[in-house]
Amino acid sequence: MEVKTCRECKKLFQYVSGKRVCPVCLKKHAQWLIDVKDYIREQPTCTINKIHEDIGVPIRIIEDFIRDGSLELSAGSSISVKCTMCGSPITKGKVCDKCNASRLNDMTNAGKEMGAKRKAELEAKSKEPKNNMFTRR
Ligand SMILES: [Zn+2]
Ligand SMILES: [Zn+2]
Repeated sequence: MEVKTCRECKKLFQYVSGKRVCPVCLKKHAQWLIDVKDYIREQPTCTINKIHEDIGVPIRIIEDFIRDGSLELSAGSSISVKCTMCGSPITKGKVCDKCNASRLNDMTNAGKEMGAKRKAELEAKSKEPKNNMFTRR
């Protein structure tokens, strides 16, 4: 068993897995998530600031809910968090679709480079002098 400091209340607790938050705070988070969901259902056009002002849930916590997908936002919602790469508004995760795509692209390019190298090696091999004896008539 590991003992860790809770990220929220700074108390020591028996850490098992997942978030570094003690069971008391986890329970609080769960309740907050319900409160926020209820609030958004009634006020679909509210903002994070407004939720924070009205029901007292910390803004950082609301953003966490959005980023980890616990809180799903409808298309018309004015709630958003910022892409950690370019800062444009997003409704889920850490980066926007564009940055996500370019990130994936970077990875595929890296993969392609490796593939190209391998191909070049294979081609070099196939260009090695062959015995032409049988191809000529
Ligand atoms: Zn705690
Ligand atoms: Zn972005």
